[in-house]
Amino acid sequence: MATRSVDIAIIGAGTAGMRAYRAARGHTDSLLLIEDGPYGTTCARVGCMPSKLLIAAADAAESVRKAGTFGIRARLDAVDGAAVLDRVRRERDRFVSFVVDTVEGFPAEHRLSGRARFTGPTTLAVAGDDGTETTVEAGRVVIATGSRPHWPADWTALGDRLLTSDSVFELPDLPDSVVVFGAGVIGLELGHALALLGVRTRLLSLGGDLAGLSDPEVRGPALAALREALPIDIDADIRAVERTGDRVAVRFVENGKEVTETFDYALAATGRRPNVEALDLAAAGLALDDQGLPIHDRLSTRCSEAPVFIAGDADGTRPILHEAADEGFIAGDNAGRWPEVRRRRRKHPMSVVFSEPQIALVGDGFGALCARQDHQPFACGAVSFDDQGRSRVMAVNRGALRVYGAHGTGLFLGAELAAPAGEHLAHLLAWALENRMTVDRMLEMPFYHPVIEEGLRTALRRLHHALEMGPRPVERCLDCGPGA
Ligand SMILES: Cc1cc2nc3c(=O)[nH]c(=O)nc-3n(C[C@H](O)[C@H](O)[C@H](O)COP(=O)(O)OP(=O)(O)OC[C@H]3O[C@@H](n4cnc5c(N)ncnc54)[C@H](O)[C@@H]3O)c2cc1C
Repeated sequence: MATRSVDIAIIGAGTAGMRAYRAARGHTDSLLLIEDGPYGTTCARVGCMPSKLLIAAADAAESVRKAGTFGIRARLDAVDGAAVLDRVRRERDRFVSFVVDTVEGFPAEHRLSGRARFTGPTTLAVAGDDGTETTVEAGRVVIATGSRPHWPADWTALGDRLLTSDSVFELPDLPDSVVVFGAGVIGLELGHALALLGVRTRLLSLGGDLAGLSDPEVRGPALAALREALPIDIDADIRAVERTGDRVAVRFVENGKEVTETFDYALAATGRRPNVEALDLAAAGLALDDQGLPIHDRLSTRCSEAPVFIAGDADGTRPILHEAADEGFIAGDNAGRWPEVRRRRRKHPMSVVFSEPQIALVGDGFGALCARQDHQPFACGAVSFDDQGRSRVMAVNRGALRVYGAHGTGLFLGAELAAPAGEHLAHLLAWALENRMTVDRMLEMPFYHPVIEEGLRTALRRLHHALEMGPRPVERCLDCGPGA
């Protein structure tokens, strides 16, 4: 058995692990990046990139269908499912190859293939595919092991009829029908895209959540708009999910009646679990929470008082790419500068669902603000996009946006939205939040005409008035430009 002694061992060469590696390398050349699978990251292989590629194909199909609205005669003859998935994989593989090239550019002595587990506070055993085991004695360890799809145990009986985001992009052709379980980001994105690509799709979820939207005035219009593309029940009464031959039969209640519908596949988008079980965290002596995750400080990523840091999806919070990269930097930098540890300012939350309309959450949501309104009174400003000028011009006039601000200070606190160009609105709002802008100051910013952002200005004006800081906005502000 080989032994390696290094200053820093990083477990996982995903987004967080690679960022940790680069940050740590600024402090030491004695480090090891340990990866169990192929290089390429979840984002590029099975996450952000293939999902957006599928959505791009769905958008193309939808724009042909909608062409008639503009007097353009075009007919969607067919969706060539094999060609759609072929492009998804081709472009995906291109993105993956860039990542693989980057990791393979790291010095060979900095890389180790195999599955790591703790055997002591900072000692690891790494089992290679070839049956070899390497002992790694590290001064500090960064856990960046990511997450994996999770589904109810009895669905495993569905065998190859059960898809997850790990397998759906590998299908040779688009299926005729899919039932999607889960109304989180992944379920909505994949379900919506498959429906627009002509797959008979039904989305069933439990508990009433829709991509984390807590504001009923946004969730309602969001659901209504999404239901134009596919049937969605976010609080479904699902009685059974069974394999029948080569199909999946789902028994559920619809309009008070029990019905059974069969599909080619079930796509489980029922959450992801951090990859920590195989790490034998008990051997590391780390304090764990009730989910079995290391208790850690978000600002330093440090686990309890140990020289162990955790970053990315593995920590069980905010499973999105830019957070994984930020945490990777903090973890790698702190592992490098140990025993000095720096606590870093974290960004306000921002998440986007690339459906149509796009759904986004920025900063504090309505539910969180309501829960603490006793010590932080807040007000809301709303806009519907049904009649918003530029949205109507482009025939994407669906959805709603609500912005929240603090009474007294006028500080902008957050937003929930289901809106056309939601990804861009979310960025404007997130940047305003990072800059600690007041609603006043946001309204001083330029708004070009005619743009979807004018809808945001309407909501901000209403918020300004609700905060008792400005006049009631006129309902049709024609000097702002028609339809603003
Ligand atoms: C379908 C889908 C769509 C998404 N879309 C978006 C999006 O649009 N925008 C966005 O911001 N985020 C998106 N995400 C989330 C984003 O992809 C993740 O937050 C991010 O990739 C997490 O990076 P990570 O470094 O934590 O994990 P990963 O990239 O998964 O890296 C973890 C690595 O650790 C390795 N590993 C695990 N255990 C061990 C072990 N014991 N020993 C050695 N190696 C190990 C794994 O093999 C893996 O390579 C999406 C995710 C999915 C699934």
